[in-house]
Amino acid sequence: MIALDGLSPRHQALINGIESFLLLGKHVVDGITIALSKGRIFEETLPLLTAAGIEPRENPETSRKLIIPTNRDDVRVVIVRATDAPTYVQYGAADVGVAGKDVLIENGGDGLYQPLDLKIAQCRMMVAVPAGFDYGHAVRQGARLRVATKYINIAREHFAAKGVHVDLIKLYGSMELAPLAGLADAIVDLVSTGGTLKANRLVAIEHIVDISARLIVNQAALKLKREKLAPIMDAIARAVGR
Ligand code: AMP
Repeated sequence: MIALDGLSPRHQALINGIESFLLLGKHVVDGITIALSKGRIFEETLPLLTAAGIEPRENPETSRKLIIPTNRDDVRVVIVRATDAPTYVQYGAADVGVAGKDVLIENGGDGLYQPLDLKIAQCRMMVAVPAGFDYGHAVRQGARLRVATKYINIAREHFAAKGVHVDLIKLYGSMELAPLAGLADAIVDLVSTGGTLKANRLVAIEHIVDISARLIVNQAALKLKREKLAPIMDAIARAVGR
C-alpha cells in the first residue's frame, strides 16, 4: 500500500483506488483466474488443484468472499454460479474454469477449449416419471406429454430424436416436484445415486447422456499465458489419471 505523509484522506483514498486498479490490471495480464462454483464442483476440484500446487485460502461455503486468494500470488479463484462458469471463461474474465457437461451441452460451449474430462460430479441425465405411469403405452398412443426440466435444449433434442411429442416446461429447480404436484407427466434431470427419485416415488426410464465436469479454458489465455497454464493443466490431467 502506498502511503504518503501529509496527504488528505480524500487523496489517500484516490491513491488506494488507483493502486487497486493497477493491481487488478496486473492480475488480468499476468495472473491466472480460475472460475469455480460452490458445492460439489468446488469440493471435488480441490484435490486436483492441490495436485497442481494451488491451495485456495478460504472455503466459499463459510466465506462470503467471491474472489478467493490462493497460496500463489498469481493465482486466484472466483466463485460463480455453475451455469455462469462458461460465460466467465468465454469472455476471459477467468482463464480457466470447471463446468458440468450438462451446462456445456445445454448452453453451448462456443469459444471454449475443453481439454479435459475431470471425472468429477459424475451423474446421468435421465427421463423420469411417477412410479405406475405407463410411459411406453402413452408414447405408443401418440400422447402429447408434459415434461418439466431445467434442460430445455437437451430435452427437446432427445424427444425429437425419439419422435415423442412433448410440451416442455422450464423450471429452475426441484424438478422432482413437478409430476407430484400435477405440473408435468415426466421430468428430465440429473440422477446420481437415484435417492432423490426414490424418495419421491419416481422412476428413471430413459438414459439421455452421461455427465461429468470438464476443465474449460479461454482460447486466448491458452496462447498468451501458456507458460503458466500448461503446468497447471498437466498436473490436473495427471491427478485425474491417477
Ligand atoms: P441423487 O439423489 O444422488 O440421484 O441426486 C439427484 C439430485 O441431485 C437431483 O436434484 C439432481 O439435479 C442433483 N444432481 C445430481 N448429480 C448432480 C451433478 N453432478 N451436478 C448437479 N446436480 C446434480
